[in-house]
Amino acid sequence: MSSKVLIIGAGGVGGVVAHKCAAARDVFSDVMLASRTLSKVTAIAAEVEQLQGRRIQTAQIDADDVPALTRLLRDYQPKLVINVALPYQDLHIMDACLEAGVDYLDTANYEPLDVAKFEYSWQWAYQERFKARGLMALLGSGFDPGVTNVYCAYAQKHLLDEVHYVDIVDCNGGSHGKAFATNFNPEINIREITARGRYWEQGEWKETDPLSVSAMFDYPGVGERKSFLLYHEELESLAKNLRGLKRIRFWMTFGEAYLKHLEVLGNVGMTRIDEVMYEGKGVIPIRFLKALLPDPASLAAGYSGKTSIGCLVEGVKNGERKRHLIYNICDHAETYKEVRAQAVSYTTGVPAVTGAVMMATGKWRGEGVFNMEEMDPDPFLADVATRGLPWHVEER
Ligand code: NDP
Repeated sequence: MSSKVLIIGAGGVGGVVAHKCAAARDVFSDVMLASRTLSKVTAIAAEVEQLQGRRIQTAQIDADDVPALTRLLRDYQPKLVINVALPYQDLHIMDACLEAGVDYLDTANYEPLDVAKFEYSWQWAYQERFKARGLMALLGSGFDPGVTNVYCAYAQKHLLDEVHYVDIVDCNGGSHGKAFATNFNPEINIREITARGRYWEQGEWKETDPLSVSAMFDYPGVGERKSFLLYHEELESLAKNLRGLKRIRFWMTFGEAYLKHLEVLGNVGMTRIDEVMYEGKGVIPIRFLKALLPDPASLAAGYSGKTSIGCLVEGVKNGERKRHLIYNICDHAETYKEVRAQAVSYTTGVPAVTGAVMMATGKWRGEGVFNMEEMDPDPFLADVATRGLPWHVEER
């Protein structure tokens, strides 16, 4: 059975999702890309036609306008929506899906505009409404969250009887040649990195000052890199869903130049998210900064090097202590060749498409709101490997 899919958001990730949905002819009978700025939508659609040889439909939509989005959903009647706009839109898109009776998928959990805080409570609160409508919402189907959650589910199903310790390790060993740029939406990225660090241990959340804890980690395909402890949203659902867990943390690498720029920008107030009056007009510094920084999608041409992201899982198998690293390596230049995107957009967009394929084909099915680790990891991992993100397991 083949299905219609509606993609919302025409940024770096939206471009990858559009290419990969168009390429999945056997699953998606019809593909529509809709976003706030129509020129970005039509530019992606033209590239998809050129590279995939398939025409996709396009629409202009402000996803925060729930009645307008509901009308678009009722007219187009997709099987599901892939939300790759920004986390601020999550609840509005979920509301429209409920109104129109459409399944929902995203790659990042809801964040309110005026507080740099992300947690699942707002979206988990939709559980009963999705259930009552017989609909499915799949949360966080990117790489991290997303594939990392599925790696943990795989470890729990196949590698270990009990998973005790998880360290999610995320390295972008690539270079875009700019003095300072972010690899995905700058506002969301900077809000995440400048927040206080947090990890879960023995049933409790422990906080650290931003970027104050670091460790060296040997990333396959990249080598040793200094990695910083951050709070990341998948920790919340994995702490709840992994049996016997004792500790879970998240680590990400940053270069010296990136950290120096971030420190200076923070010191002068450019990363503030509250309104500042300037010449009689209200300005939000982080929004202004976003306007100055390179568009993440524009970094793709000429990006070299690799990303290496995985889960280091430790626990017990048949009474013995075991430690495995499950990971993927992705090459910026290769992803550019394939879909004109850098590897950060690619590693987010491909799992979103695999999640959508799982839902459209019924391999993953449920009524209500789900995190990735609640589903069977096997069909997802088999599919994501064929779409461009092979994975490996190494005993450490
Ligand atoms: P971009 O900023 O490049 O793209 C966001 C797109 O969403 C833009 O086209 C923007 O439109 C559109 N948009 C914003 N607001 C609205 C609205 N109200 N209605 C309709 N469209 C809107 O971001 P990325 O592509 O880099 O990231 C997309 C998502 O992926 C983000 O939520 C990000 O957090 C998530 N992500 C997840 C990762 C994971 O591994 N799980 C990793 C990386 C990113 P406009 O052009 O008009 O601004």
